[in-house]
Amino acid sequence: MAAQIIDGKRIAGKIKERLIKEIEELKKQGITASLSAIQVGDDPGTGVYVRAQQRSCEKIGLDYKLHQFKKDVSQKELRDFIARLNEDTGVSGIILQMPLPSQLDGRILQGMIDPKKDAEGVSPANMGMVVYGKPLLAPCTAMAVMELINSVGVKLYGKEAVVVGHSDIVGKPTALLLLDKFVTTSVCHIATGERGTLPQYVSQAEILIVAVGKANLVKGEWVKEGAIVIDVGINRVEGKIVGDVEFEVAKERASHITPVPGGVGAVTTAMLLKNCVQAAKLQSK
Ligand code: NAP
Repeated sequence: MAAQIIDGKRIAGKIKERLIKEIEELKKQGITASLSAIQVGDDPGTGVYVRAQQRSCEKIGLDYKLHQFKKDVSQKELRDFIARLNEDTGVSGIILQMPLPSQLDGRILQGMIDPKKDAEGVSPANMGMVVYGKPLLAPCTAMAVMELINSVGVKLYGKEAVVVGHSDIVGKPTALLLLDKFVTTSVCHIATGERGTLPQYVSQAEILIVAVGKANLVKGEWVKEGAIVIDVGINRVEGKIVGDVEFEVAKERASHITPVPGGVGAVTTAMLLKNCVQAAKLQSK
């Protein structure tokens, strides 16, 4: 039987409805939730993303401020600017748009953001809280994956999951969030691919998360019957956006599957907004 499609847009819509109420509530208490975005250079892809971000914030009543820097800005200039935003009590969330020009070290700059204002949840302190099982502001995509899995309504305790991809901001934190729910979790990466054992791992997964960035890397026939499949990948193929999983075949085997687009991406944006609201609450304590 064909899988149920997990509707990321609908889930994101519900999260945003809740956030609208929370933002109104905060306003009544004199707290304004906001997002300050830092954009370096004029990369068109980042421009599209920033405009979408601004629209999403405005729709739910979150103040949005964009700070643009020329592409030759120095590490020190940005460090000083982040320090000023950290001090500014009118700023609740901060995001440093990636990618950055080569003279800048994004990881160090992200680490400069006050953990209580870290809208993307990528600073070392916030990653550390994920390790401790007490996430404050966790990485948005990893949280989105958990939200999508939870939307299916299955008991996670004791399930077997496989995460394909071990990036710092997606694969690793997703695996940690799953472990925290007592899901037995395997993490695959490039060496698994090179060894040729990726199909074996994938075929064991009751919950499969793929975050690589290679179109159709995971063949539909590898997917376990009845698995929950969360496809994080975003790839452009012949002018179309596709994921990392061979969707048409996989959906005949899975019980639930996310589409690309319309799955993880929509919920990731909602999680960024949620982190901004959470950040405003953390700072008001
Ligand atoms: P990344 O940093 O490039 O990480 C990709 C991971 O895949 C790495 O761990 C890499 O391993 C692993 N990998 C590469 N080839 C492999 C193979 N053949 N078999 C198994 N693993 C392999 O990318 P990312 O930031 O995690 O993003 C992954 C994908 O998700 C991208 O398409 C990105 O656009 C998308 N994404 C989507 C959202 C969303 O909201 N929908 C958010 C973030 C990212 P090594 O490091 O060992 O090479």
